Amino acid sequence: MIFRGVIGSLCLALLASSAVGQTVEQRKLAPKNLKIAANEEQPPSDPSERDKTPQAGHGQISQFGELTRLTFDISQTVPVLAYVLADPKRAIVDLPEVNFAPDPLKDKPGPAPRPGQSKAQPNAGTGVIAAYRSGLFAVGKSRIVIDLKDSARISRAVIEKKDDNQGLRLVVELALTDQATFAKEASASLQSMAKAAPDAPKPRAPAADEKPLVVLDPGHGGIDAGAHGANAVLEKDIVFEFAKTLAARLRQEGKYRVLLTRTQDIFVPLGERVRIARNAGADLFLSIHADILSDGSGVSGATIYTMSDRASDAQAARVAEKENMSDTFAGLDSKEDKGGINDILFDLTRRETRRYSQHFSHTLTDYLKDHMRLNKNPQRSAGFQVLKAPDVPSVLLEIGYLSNDKDLTQMRSSEWRDQATASTARAIDSFFSARGPAEPAKKPGPPAKAGRANGVAPVIQ
Ligand SMILES: [Zn+2]
Repeated sequence: MIFRGVIGSLCLALLASSAVGQTVEQRKLAPKNLKIAANEEQPPSDPSERDKTPQAGHGQISQFGELTRLTFDISQTVPVLAYVLADPKRAIVDLPEVNFAPDPLKDKPGPAPRPGQSKAQPNAGTGVIAAYRSGLFAVGKSRIVIDLKDSARISRAVIEKKDDNQGLRLVVELALTDQATFAKEASASLQSMAKAAPDAPKPRAPAADEKPLVVLDPGHGGIDAGAHGANAVLEKDIVFEFAKTLAARLRQEGKYRVLLTRTQDIFVPLGERVRIARNAGADLFLSIHADILSDGSGVSGATIYTMSDRASDAQAARVAEKENMSDTFAGLDSKEDKGGINDILFDLTRRETRRYSQHFSHTLTDYLKDHMRLNKNPQRSAGFQVLKAPDVPSVLLEIGYLSNDKDLTQMRSSEWRDQATASTARAIDSFFSARGPAEPAKKPGPPAKAGRANGVAPVIQ
């Protein structure tokens, strides 16, 4: 859930350029609803506009007794909003759009460090900071997520002149605190987030004669890079290319309406991806990812996942756990908004939808096997949050392993991408032609009562 309102114990440094680093004020901000995923292709940003975006360097961590400080050189002052979240313990720093210097981590192969892991990040592991990451979080918003080793409070979040007076720096200072104080501050952050949460948009009722709507969901984006492969290859980029190619192909064929959950390198929460599909009245949802194994260079091929309450096997459970970390990784509350609906009225629909999802999974496997290397056991299931729409057949395709040289070479090749997306498009054709005029039992009646189910406003169809 995107928010922009903070009160009480949140530490807000709202800095005027005339008073750089002089004060740290605490004040309320009016909540603002933010559009977090555009449905149309975004034009490339104007270079002259891009030049105006504040620039920041690499993070530096230092420790002074019980204080741990994370600093970035920054080209100009911006408002800084910092607060803590629990489960896992994190400090979040929200900023307007800032271009951070490329993360040195991107040049190292291996899985992206997840919350609680500290490996490979320069000077991470110092003081209370286990790891941190920075990047675009939403349109016009950047974020720094700091994984904490222990309970800490934000003692300072400010932009100030550097000691040598040569420019400015962003300083985030963390002080060790006790568990009870941390829990109180984290809970205040959550209350503010809940107050500032935008209302769910009303779903659009599809016209009867409209072409089927296929929603393509390129995984990760922005601050959440997904898996890191060799040669600085990032999962978010590989899957975005795949989704764009598939979307272009489907649009060109003219049989479907096509919607992407993200059309640029931007973070989109998992629940929001589900909501985009449901609110648009999607007939099929295809989430696209790429897998990685730290010690599995021999494991290769594409795998097709569907939603199940119990994982089909240990690998499916591992992949679902990894993919479900996306929100936590980007600094969202882990208990918030899973995008699913628990209302009992959806049970029948959900069962029916899962049948269609299974059907598409079989079809996709059949069509992909001629042009794509498939995993030894290519059809699996587990509790993926992004597949939880009760009324939209949903499948998650892991197109290959970034940890396998052959897969990696293939996934970067436009020739392979053309073949693989052509097979996927044929599978989508087959799915819709087999389904015939009978729609899956979607669009059930409204839930019995208004209110929020599992953190999501019920959708009135
Ligand atoms: Zn992924």
